[in-house]
Amino acid sequence: MAKEELSCSFCGRKKPETSLLIAGLDAHICDKCIEQAHGIVLEESTADDNENLSAELSLRKPKDIKEFLDQYIIGQDYSKKVMSVAVYNHYKRLLQPASDDDIEIQKSNIIMVGQTGTGKTLMAKTISKMLNVPLAIVDATVLTEAGYVGEDVETILTRLLQAADYNLEKAEKGIVFIDEIDKIARKSDNPSITRDVSGEGVQQALLKLLEGTVVNVPPKGGRKHPDQKFIEVNTENILFIAGGAFDGIERVITKRLNMQAVGYSASKGDEKIDEKNLLQYIIPKDLKDFGLIPEIIGRLPVLTHMDPLDTKTLRAILTEPKNAIIKQYKKLFAMDDIIFNITDDALEFIVTKAIEYKLGARGLRSLCESILTDAMFELPSSDDKELTVNKAYSEKKLTKSKLSKLKAVS
Ligand code: ADP
Repeated sequence: MAKEELSCSFCGRKKPETSLLIAGLDAHICDKCIEQAHGIVLEESTADDNENLSAELSLRKPKDIKEFLDQYIIGQDYSKKVMSVAVYNHYKRLLQPASDDDIEIQKSNIIMVGQTGTGKTLMAKTISKMLNVPLAIVDATVLTEAGYVGEDVETILTRLLQAADYNLEKAEKGIVFIDEIDKIARKSDNPSITRDVSGEGVQQALLKLLEGTVVNVPPKGGRKHPDQKFIEVNTENILFIAGGAFDGIERVITKRLNMQAVGYSASKGDEKIDEKNLLQYIIPKDLKDFGLIPEIIGRLPVLTHMDPLDTKTLRAILTEPKNAIIKQYKKLFAMDDIIFNITDDALEFIVTKAIEYKLGARGLRSLCESILTDAMFELPSSDDKELTVNKAYSEKKLTKSKLSKLKAVS
């Protein structure tokens, strides 16, 4: 057969009319048709994803959601329960068929109050993993009102688009975790105070995002500028989770609890207040007294708290979650055929140090790293195929490390 007679079996273009013609068994395909076919594949897989989303969501009831969270997050039972219900209701709202009544289910955006390192971010991450939806983690402290130095609130959605690989449909069903929401609290209780750039203005700007609106988002982030193309993102079905340590809110809670106590008769005073975990008594009014504006609180209707991590919880965090730190090290060593063991007293030592250095769960990783770096450096090139770390070994390695200098500070 003459060469010029070759043509695309899909569109019929002759070889010279194409930039590329690929031969198969009995057929040929040109570059244009490949591109078109690729587009169809992408479209189909997005459609599949959406179907998956529906299928998966209808499968997971709040109890199943909590069970999933249990695999990754130790303790925090109350929060996990509240989150499971909120997430379930949120996606129920999302999957509801066009309604024939006037009952419109409102968003269940969430606000989590808890000390740093207690698992707030982990909670948001785990939920997004479970639902297979994109997650953007943003820090409220970098946000400013439009026109000021810093990032516009719209950039939150830029991050979400990036997390969704610019798949708009996916992004619009995603989760945004706004960390350090407490840092944009109004600094003064006096609402008439002149402009408060970092605080109230940002809260105001966040309002419409939380509620559900169409926002022009600069796809690459940065400041809005007239020549830039925007992507229209509808935030109606985006789940917002806000988190913050709210340092000092315990004082607000204690004050309120004491005032309530005064109002009650003496016999009511029987209910002991757990001074070690005051956050469990938090109510929306405390957030208002702390400096969040009532409108923001109204748009984050699900309020939950994280318990402080005690020794037992920290110990469990080291070994129990599905991707527990110790399991990760075991895997790393196993890749070099090294069996890695760690004794109970070494684990307890690490926990004690994490508490002593006031590092919380976040410190567990840095402590393990300090203790194991030498071994991870030496063993892959040695004949030793087993490493057992005990308390004495851990103490020795830690004394040599920079972390031990922390002692002087605390
Ligand atoms: P936060 O957002 O509250 O400051 P993170 O979620 O970032 O805290 O937690 C820091 C690290 O500590 C996480 O990567 C996680 O490994 C660990 N961690 C914290 N709390 C828990 C928990 N309850 N269960 C398991 N791991 C936890």
